[in-house]
Amino acid sequence: MIFGQYFLEATYLIASCLFVMGLKSLSHPDTARRGMIMAAAGMAAALVGTLFHPEIHNYIWIVVGLIVGSSIGIPMAMVPMTAMPQRTALSHAFGALAASMVGLAEYVIHGAGLGPVKMGALGLEVMLGSLTVTGSLIAAGKLQEVIRGTPIMFKGQHYVNLALFLGMITCFVLWMINPASGIYFYTLVGLAFLFGVMLVIPIGSADMPVVMSLLNSYAGLSSAATGFVLGNNVLIIAGTLDGFSGFILSILMCRAMNRSITNVLFGGFGAVVATDTAAGGTMREVTLDDVAVQLAYANQVVFVPGYGMATAQAQHACRELGDLLEERGVSVKYGIHPVAGRMPGHMNVLLAEANVPYSSLYEMEQINPELSTTDVAVVIGANDVVNPDARDNPKSPIAGMPIIEVDRAKSVVVLKRGKGKGFSGLENPLFFKSVTGMLYGDAKSSLSNLVQAVQKV
Ligand code: NAP
Repeated sequence: MIFGQYFLEATYLIASCLFVMGLKSLSHPDTARRGMIMAAAGMAAALVGTLFHPEIHNYIWIVVGLIVGSSIGIPMAMVPMTAMPQRTALSHAFGALAASMVGLAEYVIHGAGLGPVKMGALGLEVMLGSLTVTGSLIAAGKLQEVIRGTPIMFKGQHYVNLALFLGMITCFVLWMINPASGIYFYTLVGLAFLFGVMLVIPIGSADMPVVMSLLNSYAGLSSAATGFVLGNNVLIIAGTLDGFSGFILSILMCRAMNRSITNVLFGGFGAVVATDTAAGGTMREVTLDDVAVQLAYANQVVFVPGYGMATAQAQHACRELGDLLEERGVSVKYGIHPVAGRMPGHMNVLLAEANVPYSSLYEMEQINPELSTTDVAVVIGANDVVNPDARDNPKSPIAGMPIIEVDRAKSVVVLKRGKGKGFSGLENPLFFKSVTGMLYGDAKSSLSNLVQAVQKV
């Protein structure tokens, strides 16, 4: 028994250290893979330790849970990279559901006997957990497009949300004053479920990664509260790490889009149709051979990937073209916008998978000063992150969002399938500029064809 207790505490300590070190390693692409392995090892250590918990007398339900969880988790891990945001949203929903159910079970078992401190933590746990469950499910539905991706808004929505929020706080306070009154507790849970739905439906899919990161933060704080209720140190540490890192990530994403958290949560972004834009005229189509000649005789080429590179899975063809140009003495760089694609670090992950050296990747602030001396900027399935309206048109809904200023390059080639808009749904004046040539087609086949065409130059 004593050995079991020591073993449990030791594994929790090891797990906590691994979580902290894993999180630190995730802050740099070179060490990110190691960070993931450390975090997974930490989770495994925490799981193994928990099996030695002195209060466990029967392993049947644990085995059942393990089988059910693994049979859901393994196929979920196999989804393509582009479906990763909705997969992550589902994971948040499951994590938050687990925290809420633990909270409900604790209240059913101990009732008013928990004492005021534990009750406060438990109330917080079920409130944050329950709203995260429904909020994350709506986020996953929007990202998977089973629910309309554009903001769903109605008159007086903010007042309804405010009333729900005040209703939750009132139930929480009344329950704390009168802990035996289950009615307040269960109403709090019901209102939190509803609040999660109402909080996320008015937010457009383009903002969903920020929302998810915020919900991730709530799920983390809910788990930390669970830790206080159960007296479980590893839950307190992991939940707090999760809660605060999720919150910091939300702020960083908002900064990269030049938006505030309040604007993301209450702005209904994506519902606005831009009417005032410099976009207009005709787009100049270029041929594969024209582009191949431009690239082959350039001094410097900058690739700017976006969401279209991810959907086309064009990263390997992109690296192949980059390698070929470098062999010909061209300086090749990759300009990475912080919110290109659909999740933070999306482009970095794809290019790392294609073995593009990290030293060739340039952040937006590093690449922008180089663009005026760049011969050809190749935009691969990016749209919003290179939209000059964000810089030049104060009336644009994305005004102020920092962009990769490809229009400053001597020549721009845009690889996209047709005239499809970016995630913001806005027209892009870059495509109508005289410096820009449009090479239509799926990014992967365009890049593979360019490899062959450059070889012939
Ligand atoms: P984007 O604005 O969504 O544009 C993607 C473009 O790729 C589309 O215009 C589409 O045009 C083209 N495309 C799609 N499939 C293609 C294919 N197979 N081959 C070639 N082209 C293809 O992408 P982005 O410039 O990367 O911008 C990301 C957006 O997501 C921003 O609005 C950003 O604010 C938002 N967002 C991102 C994050 C994040 O963490 N990364 C977080 C929050 C919000 P066609 O249909 O004509 O091909």
